[in-house]
Parts: sequence; C-alpha cells; structure tokens
Amino acid sequence: MPVDLDHHHDPDHAVQIAPRVWWVGHKQDNDPFQCHAYLIEQGDQSVLIDPGSMRTFHHTLRKIEEIIPFHKIKYFVAQHQDPDITASLPAIGLMLRRDDAVLVTHWRSAMLLKHYDLRMAFWLVDEHEWSLPLEDRTLQFIFTPYAHFAGAICTFDPVSEVVFTSDIFGALDEDFHLFAEDESHFERMRPFHEHYMPSRDILDFALTAIAKVPYRLIAPQHGSLIRQPLAGQLLERLRHLDCGLYLMAGRDSDIMRLIRLNATLREITQALSLYRDFKDIAGRLLEIIRRHLPVTGLRFLAMDGGGATVLLSPETRYRGEVVGRDADLGWALGLDRLGWERAAGVGADRQAPFLLLDGPDGAAQVVLPLFDPDRGRVTALATLELASAPADLQDLGWIAEELAMPLQVALERELMLREVDQQRQNIYERSIRDPLTGLFTRVYMQDAVSRLCSMQDRGTGGEVALVMLDIDHFKRVNDTWGHVQGDAVLREVGEAVREVVREADIPIRLGGEELAVFMVGMSPGGVQAMAERLREAVAALSFQGPIEELQVSVSIGFAQRQRSEPLEALIDRADRALYEAKQGGRNRVVSAPKVLSMAHAA
Ligand code: GH3
Ligand code: MG
Ligand code: MG
Repeated sequence: MPVDLDHHHDPDHAVQIAPRVWWVGHKQDNDPFQCHAYLIEQGDQSVLIDPGSMRTFHHTLRKIEEIIPFHKIKYFVAQHQDPDITASLPAIGLMLRRDDAVLVTHWRSAMLLKHYDLRMAFWLVDEHEWSLPLEDRTLQFIFTPYAHFAGAICTFDPVSEVVFTSDIFGALDEDFHLFAEDESHFERMRPFHEHYMPSRDILDFALTAIAKVPYRLIAPQHGSLIRQPLAGQLLERLRHLDCGLYLMAGRDSDIMRLIRLNATLREITQALSLYRDFKDIAGRLLEIIRRHLPVTGLRFLAMDGGGATVLLSPETRYRGEVVGRDADLGWALGLDRLGWERAAGVGADRQAPFLLLDGPDGAAQVVLPLFDPDRGRVTALATLELASAPADLQDLGWIAEELAMPLQVALERELMLREVDQQRQNIYERSIRDPLTGLFTRVYMQDAVSRLCSMQDRGTGGEVALVMLDIDHFKRVNDTWGHVQGDAVLREVGEAVREVVREADIPIRLGGEELAVFMVGMSPGGVQAMAERLREAVAALSFQGPIEELQVSVSIGFAQRQRSEPLEALIDRADRALYEAKQGGRNRVVSAPKVLSMAHAA
C-alpha cells in the first residue's frame, strides 16, 4: 500500500502515516477533543500506541484488523494514564489470546493502571533503558514528566521518524483535520496547552527532550499530526506560550479573557524584573492597570519589617515615609482574612475582596488588601484612585484579585530593599557612634572634620575651633566605685556635652575619658563661652545610687584653627592648653595661644 501522506485520508479506515505506521483512531463528531491511536505493524511484535477508550476502541479495533489480526499486537503502550487512552484496557485484557502481551508504560503510570487488575504484565520503560527493540526498529521513549502527568512519556520511532507526543502538540479543533496545514494551527494548539500544561518550564523541558530526536512527523494524541518543517516552527512557538492558565482561572472559563489577563500578568512580571526603582515599577504598574480601569493614581500603605507604617505615594516619588499608626486605613494592617472581611464589610453578597470608597466629584478609590502569603495577614494596602466609580463590579473584582499578587510581590521587594538600606544605615551609625556616650567616634572625626577644615581653607566654611575635655581624677572613680559606676559617669558626661553643644557642632569621644567638640563659625569669645558652659554643665551633674555624693569636673583646653593648619597640629595645641588647665588646678578652661607664625605650614 502506498504511503498516503497527502490528501484523501478517509477517517473511516486506517491511514498509513509512515512506512508500517498507521493512524487507527476514530473521528468523533461534535468533539473538539479528538483522540488518536497509532499502530506500528511489526508482524507478531506489533505495537499499539495509546489504545483509547470504550467510546473509540471498537472503531480502532476494526481499523487494526484492516492491517493485521488483533492478536499480532504484543505491545500496548500507555503514554500516560488518562481514561481517553486507557479505558479500553480491561476490554483488551479480555480479548487477549497471547500470554506474552505487555503493557508498556512508566512506573508512575503503572502504579495507577494496576488498578485495572489486568492479566497483562507491565513492561516499564524506565527499567529497559527507555527503549524497546522490535524486529526492524528500536523504539525510544522520551520522559516528559508533568506534561501533564508525572509519568508521561513520548515515543520515537527512528525508522519512520515519527514521534508520538501524547498530549504535547495537542489541539482543540472544531473540525477534524488529520494533518495540520500551516502555522494557523498554532491557534488551535494554544488553548489546549494553556489549559492542559501546568507551566512553561515544564512544557519547555518536554519540548527540549523532543527536539533532540530527529523526527519528521509529530503524531500527538489530540488535534492534528504535524509534519516538518511546520512541526519545528510550532515547537519553537510553543516554547513561549504561557501555560497553567487554570491555576488562576478560578471559576472563569472565558478563554480570551484569561489570555488577555495572562498577557497583563506577564507584563507586570517583566516590569518587576526590568526596573529596579520602585518609582518606575509603580509607574509601569499604573500604565498596565489603566488598560482595564480608569485609574489615576496608585499608592501603598504598608507595614515594614520593623513594624513601622510606611506610605509610598507619588507625592514622595514612592520613597516611602513613615507615618503614624493612625494613618488613613492604618486600622486594616495586621488583620487576618476574616478580620479584614468583617471590618471592610465585604459580605457574601459581594464577591470582590476589595473596599470601594467614594471620592470627591464622582471619583472612587479601590482599596486592595495585600496579604502576607505565609501568615495570611494584611501587610499592605494598595489604593487605586479612579476618575469615576467603576461600572462593572464583577470585572473590577477579577482585576483586583489578579493584581493583588503581583502588587504584593513588588511591594514586598521594595520593603525588603528599604530594610537592607535601613540596616546599612544602622551599621554606619554604629560605626560612627560610640555606644557608651552616644558621641561620635574618631572614625567619623577624620571624615567630617577634614571636610570642615578644607571648607575653611577654601573660604567656603566658617572658622573651625576645637574644644578638648578630660575628666578630672577619673581613675579615682573607677578605683573607688568600680568600672560600672565609672561607665555611668562617662555616660552622664557624654549626655551633658550633647545637651550643651549646638546642632552643627561635632562632639567626639577621642578615647577613654577624653572628649572633644569641633565647632564651626564661632568667634574665639563664643568658643570660650561654650567651653565654660560645658565645664559648668559637667560640674552641675548629680548622680544616683552609690555615687550619689560624687562631684565630677572636667578640665578643658581649646584652640582656634588657623587657615591650613593640619588637624594634628590643632589637636596638639588644644591638648597643650588642656594640660595647662590640669596643671592650673583642674575644673577650668584654658585657651591655646594663637600660632604666631605659619612656620608649620612652610
Ligand atoms: P586626670 O585628672 O589627670 O585626667 O586624672 P585621671 O585619673 O582622669 O587620668 P588617667 O589618664 O590617669 O586615668 C584615666 C582613667 O580612665 C584610666 C582608665 O581606666 C579610665 N577609663 C578609660 N576609659 C574608660 C571607660 O570606658 N570606662 C571606665 N569606667 N573607665 C575608663
Ligand atoms: Mg586622661
Ligand atoms: Mg582624666
């Protein structure tokens, strides 16, 4: 019989699709879900691929018998376990006249198919190196798990170069086409894959495995057979298809709407990966949402990792400002689902999980709760501002429901980045602040003071002065009351210094019980007065507990920086003045003499 690859395939008879390979399916009227079965004729080693169901099997049997007697079939291949492939197996089991017939499948399918309680033994592809040697060819099995069943396989015949792809390359077709004609067939494959394949990754895995075999014809279980080169083109297009629509479809069965929605979600995901700045992400989200709703603004109220309430709004370019707990809608943060539904008054009569508020001039606000996926609590609210109240609440409902997850992801990422920033800031703060006294450290001094000095030198900043303080007889405090009390004194002195100095001054703990204050833009008289106030503030300190009776004092030396005087020289002069104050009897202020010549600069 000639190989009929072109026209006039009569679906009432077996159709040869390649040498010794036959289509033996049944054309079902008024059913877009055609189910194909295939026969590889190999004498009494013949193979029936995906036998079919009780609706189709008697037709399949008649077509097989046009080619070979049924008992010539030894191998029954079940590429997965669905009823449209396997429901005929019990009937086949009863018809069998040979003892060596086997059911060829993957072990995961076998675990389920054993419930048919067939007499036929299993022949597991995974235990036979994924190949089945026949008289003139060796079939190869391709493992395509989860597309759409955990044990799904495809079968490749290297002699005819036909690959039997089971559900992959399936199509939903109102009319019967045994062979696909052109690329328009993709639109028949699209809904099938979007609904029956769980995800693009899983489908891609299967397509990659299939693309590795040198096939010339694809023979799927549903839809149409596809020849090269069309098959290769359609394979590439399938790689970019978004699958698993049913994951988000809910009760919705409007395919076009789901496809549109899918595109929207894909764009949102893209926006998230494309933009780093939340301002850009929010702008892009707004643009995308605008296609579905007359939305004019988007803002978020969120709880950050530290529990603070943060408002991200276009007014602050979505930088996020900490607002009080009593912020608008702040009551909703932290509620669980039930709490939210109760508080928002979302009853059984309203399907939508959002709050609709009236705005001025007919405007409206849609408030979407964003739930923490782990704890199921409202961690944020997204507010969409609408120019007018939405006409169709049902429509708004599904948009809201679908947007919630991507918005949640975008926001969560932003809050995480904020937290990282905050922590970085905290670490910096810690490195520049002395934990005991709350004064700046030497590290910070080098940084900040050299900047002040160079500004003074360029004439763009005021004069710099340095006041150095040293606690008098501090050793005695430690010796008499111990280090803990000594620390308490240091802390109090530090606080007194911070209270006296101005916002612009830089108070520093140089080390031990030596403190310093850099001041900018003060006359020598002003510096002297500040130094006196510092001394008095410390002398006025009173303590509690065992050191209640203690009186502390500081000795102070200060110096006014000359232009281009190195920092070390300034410190040295103030230190000398401080030494003089100690020598002079302590608890006093001494001014360093002006530098007479600029000899040190020469
Ligand atoms: P003088 O009036 O001459 O400055 O006398 P003094 O005892 O204050 O001076 P000295 O430099 O001899 O002693 C300073 C003491 O400060 C020695 C050291 O144990 C103590 N000290 C330095 N850092 C700390 C600290 O962080 N905590 C406590 N409790 N003591 C400290
Ligand atoms: Mg000292
Ligand atoms: Mg001292």
